[in-house]
Amino acid sequence: MFKSTRTVPTQFATSRAFVLLLFVTAASLPLRAQNTPQREIAITIDDLPAGAANSMTGTEITEMTAKLLGTLRDQKVPAVGFVNERKLYKFGEVDERIKALNMWLDYGFELGNHTFAHTSLNRVPLKDWEEEVVRGETVTRLLLQQHKMTMRYLRHPYLDTGRDLETRREAEAFLVARGYRIAPITMDAWDWMYAGVYDDARKRADTGLQQQLVSSYLSYSTEVFDYYEKFSKDLIGYEPKQILLLHGNWLEADHIGELLDLLRKRGYRFITLQDALSDSAYSMPDEYIGEEGTNWIDHWAITRGRPPRNTPVFPQWVIDRSKALPHPAN
Ligand SMILES: [Zn+2]
Repeated sequence: MFKSTRTVPTQFATSRAFVLLLFVTAASLPLRAQNTPQREIAITIDDLPAGAANSMTGTEITEMTAKLLGTLRDQKVPAVGFVNERKLYKFGEVDERIKALNMWLDYGFELGNHTFAHTSLNRVPLKDWEEEVVRGETVTRLLLQQHKMTMRYLRHPYLDTGRDLETRREAEAFLVARGYRIAPITMDAWDWMYAGVYDDARKRADTGLQQQLVSSYLSYSTEVFDYYEKFSKDLIGYEPKQILLLHGNWLEADHIGELLDLLRKRGYRFITLQDALSDSAYSMPDEYIGEEGTNWIDHWAITRGRPPRNTPVFPQWVIDRSKALPHPAN
């Protein structure tokens, strides 16, 4: 009996010491490390040499590319850029446009294929689409060879992977046979929709509107990250190594640093696309077919009969502004 009466104060003393230890340990850790989960994300940038290449001069494309890549390189953030080679062919500017594209490789980034003319697999017969893939390889493959690299990724234009499963699977087999790995995406905040309005504001030096667009873009991005972090956890039990879709435009060139900061604050570390694809999530069953290109978390969810609900709503005012432009985005 006397033993048990002694244990009470001892246990009490031990638990007090434990609590004290916890308190000291917690206090010595930076706040971020305690509260922020460890997350990983790969950056991919589509529509190179630039989303709006047709209305830009070669010099502007070079300037934009240098600014975008400068930030990524300074911050040691890996990225893969996806090319539409048709945008290289502007009379008298071909050399300069190819040079702008080559900067990606000179800066240490990677290039992949986004088809020659940004052709949707949902809109043309499979054979025509395959020709677009092959045609889209010419210059990029040559540039890659000069850097002792090979073409290994394809990104579907509009994220359209085919209107029926047979087409989807045949296209996949064709891509694999040509040495491609499909580059999926899991995060997308429609920067292309902001980009046209931002460009227009930039040309008119309307800094007020530019700032409004940037803050809307960052807050919509936050909503997308919130939603898909949670949705992936609910659906597959964890947050996979994510893949973010961005586009080659002035909005990103001017402000990608703010987006990277936002991601770092959420606990993200920047990884290569190759690393992201090593996540077994990307080999889960995916039988998505549809008219609207969508992200791969949605693909897995739809395959399991659990389509996403209450997804973040894109700000209507930006769509309205975009439609009012002389050359609206897509
Ligand atoms: Zn695209």
